[in-house]
Amino acid sequence: MEFDTIAAISTPVGEGAIAIVRLSGEQAFSIADTLYKGKKRVQEADSHTIQYGHIVDPETAETVEEVMVSVLQAPRTFTREDIIEINCHGGLVSVNRVLDLVLSAGARLAEPGEFTKRAFLNGRIDLSQAEGVMDLIRAKTDKAMHAAVKQVEGRFSERVRRLRRELLETVAHVEVNIDYPEFDAESVTLDNLKRHTSHVRDEVKQLLSTAKQGKILREGLGTAIIGRPNVGKSSLMNSLIHENRAIVTDIPGTTRDVLEEYVNIRGVPLRLIDTAGIRDTEDIVEKIGVERSRKALQEAELILLVLNSAEALSVEDEALFKAIHGLNAVILLNKTDLDKKIDEDRVRELASGRPVIAASLLKDEGIDELEQAVSSLFFEEGIEGSDLSYISNARHVGLLNQTRQTLEDALEAVEMGVPVDMIQIDITRAWEMLGEIIGENVHDGLIDQLFSQFCLGK
Ligand code: GDP
Ligand code: ZN
Repeated sequence: MEFDTIAAISTPVGEGAIAIVRLSGEQAFSIADTLYKGKKRVQEADSHTIQYGHIVDPETAETVEEVMVSVLQAPRTFTREDIIEINCHGGLVSVNRVLDLVLSAGARLAEPGEFTKRAFLNGRIDLSQAEGVMDLIRAKTDKAMHAAVKQVEGRFSERVRRLRRELLETVAHVEVNIDYPEFDAESVTLDNLKRHTSHVRDEVKQLLSTAKQGKILREGLGTAIIGRPNVGKSSLMNSLIHENRAIVTDIPGTTRDVLEEYVNIRGVPLRLIDTAGIRDTEDIVEKIGVERSRKALQEAELILLVLNSAEALSVEDEALFKAIHGLNAVILLNKTDLDKKIDEDRVRELASGRPVIAASLLKDEGIDELEQAVSSLFFEEGIEGSDLSYISNARHVGLLNQTRQTLEDALEAVEMGVPVDMIQIDITRAWEMLGEIIGENVHDGLIDQLFSQFCLGK
């Protein structure tokens, strides 16, 4: 395939940060050579080396920027094309000037996701891996990053491919049976078909069960801190943020996406829902009422309910328990450094099985226990232990659900004595749907739509 040469700024620009202008395409090296002045011309440099030099405006002969240039020769590159990465020392103005020069030298400004799209179109990665890259860009914690990296490495695709192969073999058996009826292996075929179909269905179910974790890792767990005034909500928020500022691994080519409202609790990213209405319960209960506050709370995936253990349970506290009925919650009994007045048995009763943690935020006690409770709430075996390729987007979940349903239909049809060649149709459909996940059956519209979601410069 042949494409023009594209360019974009592929890192966020900010004061002091290194910004990269990336070029990909056949003209990448020659365009770079019209601007870059160093010891060697880019075209003479060895592949996969970094050259030091300057970017000089060819019209004015003015030195624009001191740079390091990575020279990456096709095909061992992300896009399988020649790639040049011009590492600028930052500053919005200078990196934009370098990009401008690159564009006037003949490159075209890349569309969002176009680098990744090329990697896909040039056969470097499959669709599911491309989506993994997109998740990488969005990953909020190193754990999420790790899951995304795994997907990029193609583990998920590999598993889907294996399942497709199994379905295909099953269908092939059926074909043999139809083509050679004198073989009379009907019952053998049915056994075989049932066994493989239910095996694939189980695997699909297992993949689906990782979807919830994948979503949490990717988007963060919407978390609301609630409680009466003065119980310690702000203190809790502060100590969570203080100890667990979101970690975002700085790997080349991914956006540094640090958002202050994300905290990383043992690998579980919490997205602290920061609405004054939810944080200050005096608002939600007294002003908008229990019913409406309950609705607001239901949008949260985790509630941290803070109580003051130095005071007796109040009517408001009881109302809050009512408001969070049936929701994921951890109860924090704060201010244990003071004399205890709260009826802890009653609290446990109200908590109905949800964790109750004693804490003194003032003395920095109880935070570890709280974190443990949060992480085990969402990852039963502890996220460290689980070594799964998380399914990481809604499209995959949708297709896997359809696949599972289709396979259930096939199995039911077997039980009902439907002729095998009819059942074969269901299995073939399931095979096609799995193919869509890894991009082996996709039409162009879907591809464009997917890639346009990428950040510019990826
Ligand atoms: P909020 O109104 O629920 O956000 O509560 P704040 O976090 O603002 O805390 C209210 C007051 O309680 C502040 O003066 C805090 O210093 C104090 N406080 C918070 N946690 C503790 C604790 O564990 N022990 C004691 N003794 N005071 C605390
Ligand atoms: Zn507060």
